[in-house]
Amino acid sequence: MTSIGIIGSGFGALAVAVELKRAGHTDIRLWERADDMGGVWRDNTYPGAGCDVPSPLYSFSYEPNPRWTRRYALQEEIHDYIRRVADKHGISPLVQYNREVTAATWDEGSSTWTVTFGDKSTQTVDVLISAVGQLSRPKLPSIPGIETFKGASFHSAEWDHDFDASGKRIAVVGSGASAVQFIPRLAAEASRLTVFQRSPNYLMPKPDKPYTAFHKTLFKVAPVTQTVERGTIWTFMEQFSKGLKDDSKVGVLGKNIALRHLKKQVKDPTLLAKLTPDYPIGCKRILFSNEFYPALAQANVDVVTSAVTAVTPEGVIDAEGNEHKVDAIVYATGFDSQDFLESIDITGVGGQKLATQWADGARAYLGMYVPNFPNMFVTYGPNTNLGGGSIIYMLEAQARHMRQALDRLKAGRFTTVEVTEEADDAYDRELQAKLDVSVWSHCENWYRHPSGRITSNWPGATHPFAKRTKVLEPDAFSWA
Ligand code: NAP
Repeated sequence: MTSIGIIGSGFGALAVAVELKRAGHTDIRLWERADDMGGVWRDNTYPGAGCDVPSPLYSFSYEPNPRWTRRYALQEEIHDYIRRVADKHGISPLVQYNREVTAATWDEGSSTWTVTFGDKSTQTVDVLISAVGQLSRPKLPSIPGIETFKGASFHSAEWDHDFDASGKRIAVVGSGASAVQFIPRLAAEASRLTVFQRSPNYLMPKPDKPYTAFHKTLFKVAPVTQTVERGTIWTFMEQFSKGLKDDSKVGVLGKNIALRHLKKQVKDPTLLAKLTPDYPIGCKRILFSNEFYPALAQANVDVVTSAVTAVTPEGVIDAEGNEHKVDAIVYATGFDSQDFLESIDITGVGGQKLATQWADGARAYLGMYVPNFPNMFVTYGPNTNLGGGSIIYMLEAQARHMRQALDRLKAGRFTTVEVTEEADDAYDRELQAKLDVSVWSHCENWYRHPSGRITSNWPGATHPFAKRTKVLEPDAFSWA
């Protein structure tokens, strides 16, 4: 029997665990560093946290949820959904909590992975699956003096719920996907909110709405209606994602919609100028909100576009030398997205270190398989993130592919599977050629490695990925 160890317990881990369990694999364990499951949906609890992909699509195809309370569910509901699916499919009892994986080493003699945890204990498995995601390590900016600040300060993904924002002067550094969701909530409570915006984003209207009792009954008694809603959203987002390349008509249309939304909600010309992006739409993640611009237009809110150059015990200094005295600083500065598996010391064939192999940027065949690392699979790995669409759809496709590889091992003819260098090289060339003409190569964003390679994103819509990964290509791998 093949023993399988999965690192993580978020959506990626769940996708693969459910797929493998349904296929008859029984020796599965999930290692979770925290004391609860859920990955980013456990960690990101900032006010207003939710998903900007509609829930009928941001859910497993085989687990529609007629109970969503609104089209764009908030964090708590998504976290509950994860726990419910894990319970229903018998995954919850397989999770080992407070088990932070620090290292994994391939043993060529026994063809197994030895996995080491924070407490130095070890476990051995035949197959190692990483499901640590791309956005699990909060990143604080390296601003001089950051540690000297005397008030409350925290990262958006580590929200301090003991902090009471009412009547406080608050600085927010960053204005991306997370900030857009919590700034309207903070603006309603703070006496003064100063938003330090390095670059403006394209922001679209959010077609959110609560699901009424009528919707919920309809979804329950006629599940096909929810399937139709999911399909409609998917089709729309597929078209949208196709536009994320140079000179696309979809991009022009999207830009017009976003700029019209801005002009409709912001009348002050100075603020309007600050919030108008000067790079191609889609190069940074497109955001969705109906409340963000009105919050920035409030009298108690300032948008500062000059860089944060220092933090003092009392506040923040900008590039023009102005000191902004505040009671609290919230860093909404994103994640170490290029980290991939760097935080785990992974050693493959012949002592090869994964961190060394990925020094110029992570890459993997189909985003899942890495030469020199047999029996190691990666979910939500290099080049599988999306500029639009649902990552859950991508994770299901990855899980199906991994299941096929494991089925071949389970059949008993082989004990190891490893992608060939040739297949990996050819795939990488094909992908990078497409990425070269994607919008992501035209501005600074978290999708790029310092080497310049775009290592996070899949180029285009999700269907081509699902098609590409539908059937395992045995020749792309060496089997032993
Ligand atoms: P983000 O979108 O990458 O935003 C980070 C922000 O911090 C940007 O505005 C960035 O400016 C700014 N920043 C970074 N370093 C800075 C510095 N040293 N000084 C000043 N500003 C700095 O991060 P995020 O909001 O945490 O979101 C990350 C990703 O998580 C998203 O792209 C998305 O994939 C995911 N997410 C998804 C949802 C959802 O609804 N599905 C919600 C939240 C997050 P620049 O733009 O100039 O770099």
